Amino acid sequence: MTHHLILGAGPAGVIAAETLRRHASAQDRITLVGDEPEPPYSRMAIPYLLIGHIDEAGTHLRKSPTHFADLGIERMQARASRVDAAGRRVTFEDGRTVSFDTLLIATGSTPVQPPVPGIDAEGVFHCWTLADAREILQRAKPGARVLQLGAGFIGCIIMEALAARGVQLSVVEMGDRMVPRMMNNVAGGMIKRWCEKKGVRVHTNARVGAMRPDMARAGSVFVELDSGDELPADLVICAAGVQPNIEFLAGSGIATDKGVLVDERMQTNIPDVYAAGDVAEAIDFSTGERAINAIQPDAVDQGRIAGLNMAGKEAHTVGSLTINVLDTLGLISSSFGKWWGDIDGESSELVDNENFRYLNLQFKGDKLIGATSVGLTDNVGVLRGLIQTKKRLGAFKEQLLRDPTLIMQASLAGSALPGAKRGGSTGGR
Ligand SMILES: Cc1cc2nc3c(=O)[nH]c(=O)nc-3n(C[C@H](O)[C@H](O)[C@H](O)COP(=O)(O)OP(=O)(O)OC[C@H]3O[C@@H](n4cnc5c(N)ncnc54)[C@H](O)[C@@H]3O)c2cc1C
Repeated sequence: MTHHLILGAGPAGVIAAETLRRHASAQDRITLVGDEPEPPYSRMAIPYLLIGHIDEAGTHLRKSPTHFADLGIERMQARASRVDAAGRRVTFEDGRTVSFDTLLIATGSTPVQPPVPGIDAEGVFHCWTLADAREILQRAKPGARVLQLGAGFIGCIIMEALAARGVQLSVVEMGDRMVPRMMNNVAGGMIKRWCEKKGVRVHTNARVGAMRPDMARAGSVFVELDSGDELPADLVICAAGVQPNIEFLAGSGIATDKGVLVDERMQTNIPDVYAAGDVAEAIDFSTGERAINAIQPDAVDQGRIAGLNMAGKEAHTVGSLTINVLDTLGLISSSFGKWWGDIDGESSELVDNENFRYLNLQFKGDKLIGATSVGLTDNVGVLRGLIQTKKRLGAFKEQLLRDPTLIMQASLAGSALPGAKRGGSTGGR
């Protein structure tokens, strides 16, 4: 009997287990291991829990409490501490050892704790787990002074939830703009202005130097910035980036860099050992190089591909396409593919500061390779489609260089016509 062992019961692990059940032999044993004391849940549902749109059960990935047992998937709560890839064994922190025939590493990532003196004070939390969310629900009461450290992807997502709870929100970001790893200067600056207009105090180019308890208010802290400013906070939420959970793989022989290195089948350098989700460093669609694309749709897709291969089928990924869609206090922004452009590429841009609208297209040859948009939701699917299909735009590219808002017309022209020529002839509408 083949034993498939899955470490990590987040979206990647759950989808892999279910895929295995569908495609592996009915006799095969499947074990899904998670270290959190919760049913498998979706971190991306946490903001909705904080807003009050759903309760905790609403974050659970599968609603029936007997879902996994019904499928014959064994569940185990334990934390893997060592992998012996050659001996095909995993050791857990509680001393148990489990053998496997195939192994999936789907252990996700963990928030980074910046090396700030005093950051372990009471009142400082991440917003990563259901346990974190419970603490934030307790403390983020209307009027509470909340300081968010970091304005990256997760930081921007949770701002909406915090604002909805009626807190006084300040954000400290060490980059020169908001979402610096996903948005260029113009887009990041526009998002900052939008947040300020909504009453959030945003400090960019700012670093937290230290934190110290407020002796007059239990659980509150003073946050000292490098500038010398001091911000009082009843709750600090640390959203300063994440790192893949790979430390338990040390000495296993499984190749890692930032994450676990995988090929297009999600297999590591060790046969029958796979990785998927936030922990995996997989091939990037735009660059062909390995990268971590820590978003849930990728985790799900990679979990499915790994599960199929573990079941003996053949499944490949075409590479993870960078897709970042953000709702920051009601302003929708997105960036796709190689949004920062190519050294040999061309670009076009529309900037409408007054109405918080922005569109930036990046081309290489006559193909769209990346895009950034703010406040323009209609084109999101089109941008993604054009980049993902590597559609040739032909002469229509010249139209887009002059007016990027013609992107929908470019897409329609491209789908109706096999070549580039007629794309150009439909321009100018
Ligand atoms: C607040 C928030 C909002 C988000 N919003 C979005 C969004 O809008 N869109 C989007 O695409 N993504 C969003 N994300 C990111 C998304 O949640 C992740 O990309 C996704 O959870 C990755 O799934 P995963 O299965 O790889 O990892 P995880 O969901 O992190 O699951 C991994 C599991 O493995 C466990 N584990 C770790 N180490 C071990 C070990 N040694 N042994 C056993 N188990 C272990 C972990 O505790 C965890 O339970 C959000 C994340 C957060 C925190």
